[in-house]
Amino acid sequence: MSSESILFSEVAEHFEKLEKTQSRLEMIDILEELFNDTPPNSIDKLCYLLLGEIDADFKHIKLGLGEKLVQKGVAKAFSLSNEEVEKLFRETGDLGEAAEVASEKGSKGLKAFTKGERKGLSLKEVHSSFLKIANAEGSGSQDKKLNILAGLLSNSTNKGCRYITRIALSKLRLGVGDMTILDALAETYTGSKDNRPQIEHIYNISSDVGLVAKKVAEDGVSGLDDVGVEIGRPIRMMLAQRLKKLSEIKEKMGGDEFAAEEKYDGERMQIHKDGENVRVFSRRLEEITKQYPDVVEYIKDNVDIDEAIMEGEAVAVQDGELQSFQKLMRRKRKYDIEEFVDKIPVKLFLFDLLYVEGESYLKKSYPKRREKLEQIVDETDNLKFSRRIVTDNLDKIDEFFEESINRGNEGILAKSCDEDSVYRAGAREWLWIKWKKDYTSKLSDTLDLTVVGALAGKGRRSGTYGALLCAAYNHEKDVFETLCKVGTGFTDEDLELLPKKLEEFEIDHKPARVVSEIEPTQWFQPNLVVEVEGAELTKSPVHTAGLDRIEEDKGLAIRFPRYLNLREDKSPDESTTVSELMEMYENQEKI
Ligand code: AMP
Repeated sequence: MSSESILFSEVAEHFEKLEKTQSRLEMIDILEELFNDTPPNSIDKLCYLLLGEIDADFKHIKLGLGEKLVQKGVAKAFSLSNEEVEKLFRETGDLGEAAEVASEKGSKGLKAFTKGERKGLSLKEVHSSFLKIANAEGSGSQDKKLNILAGLLSNSTNKGCRYITRIALSKLRLGVGDMTILDALAETYTGSKDNRPQIEHIYNISSDVGLVAKKVAEDGVSGLDDVGVEIGRPIRMMLAQRLKKLSEIKEKMGGDEFAAEEKYDGERMQIHKDGENVRVFSRRLEEITKQYPDVVEYIKDNVDIDEAIMEGEAVAVQDGELQSFQKLMRRKRKYDIEEFVDKIPVKLFLFDLLYVEGESYLKKSYPKRREKLEQIVDETDNLKFSRRIVTDNLDKIDEFFEESINRGNEGILAKSCDEDSVYRAGAREWLWIKWKKDYTSKLSDTLDLTVVGALAGKGRRSGTYGALLCAAYNHEKDVFETLCKVGTGFTDEDLELLPKKLEEFEIDHKPARVVSEIEPTQWFQPNLVVEVEGAELTKSPVHTAGLDRIEEDKGLAIRFPRYLNLREDKSPDESTTVSELMEMYENQEKI
């Protein structure tokens, strides 16, 4: 291993291997090989680049390079005309490949621009050039970005050009997920998968895969002890398990008493307050502060301490009535935000507290966290604590559930009040159980599924997709297993919008982390999440969700699946998991 830096040409060779593999295990082997060749002080940069980013996802560093500018960069790097690059782009259908061909072709013109031979770029140089591109602002910034990019391309190998261009366009998409990186880190630096849970825990509280990688590469597992909760760095959110029968809550949760809170149909938010600076993160850990100036004001005006991390759900209200998630989503816009703040006002229901004045609250019990939350926040008409009851009586819970539904909510969230009811960052466990009303079907809930493929449409739908191949997330294996083909429920608007949304995730072979027996017309990298309802879960000889777990050679499928909505607030690893499906299937059998 070189102690200086690894050459980007070597990284690009590995990127190509990652791009081609159809197996997740092979992906981990390739990553291990690459990590072993990378000096620990560059490993963070490598991890960001593997994910097509420059820094931790939540920092949302934008390169600000549009397609036209990247095209110009390729032309400039290789002394080609814009038309020539445009032609290559048309021929290859991918600007990354076009840049690679341009690099092969344009070697002659090169010297004019670089005044020398191509030298091997290091990973560090590539990363720091991208940072400079991101930081270029103000007048003349477009030219500056263009020059840095052209410089990078002209100094890179042909294959390197392919990946530099894709990173520039934010379209790298190697199919490597955070969890795959964590697996490879455990293997490479601790020699065993056994340390994976500890690595994952630190990732869950820091949301920064590069930071975790660097610590573990430099100091092994003990290096992780330095990483704690920090304001401004979102914590991966705790999630709830689901149940079909209310009566099972007690059995699953253990303990005597538990709380039942209203389950709001809004947007989950994690709010970081640092004095007057208030930042809001979504459940995908995107910063959504700009979208919620009203929430920022509620917090500034009514939270009595300087430093806190809180969680709550913002719900649209109209004439005092709580509105649906769909209504709230009309606020998701780049422009006219203030106008929509007035049109669609929100109430914020706070339900958790994760950090106070330098102290992490993650390991404190839910009753302690809630008690402190109530001490530091003054309730107003728009800033409330989640309504709840604490009891051991199931009839009271049932009554509260009815009330919650009547107030326009989705159902209830039961929360353990035990001493060990800690905040489990990033986990979906039995400390929180959601219970929603089963209105329409034998399924106790709608499902959030990741789109992994599409089948061509016929008749009226020819030219668009006839059905989407949807998958559940297998958390243990970090793969996506197919559950259904969804061909109904789409409005005309959906039929227009979905192909546009999906286009950027197209890939010409089965992605490595997808397990499918079905060969769709088009594959997609797992990214887009959709909400689907259905009649029931059945055994299936073609779908792979939970394969062999109920019966040999059989997976699970949904009968009569129907598309409901896009769930862009959810990430693919927040899709319904295979374990949840197994629970749902078993509960169904009991009825
Ligand atoms: P689901 O999205 O169906 O997995 O349900 C979990 C989500 O319910 C959380 O991510 C929150 O957005 C939402 N939620 C609504 N009310 C509450 C509450 N009182 N406590 C925790 N989460 C809640």
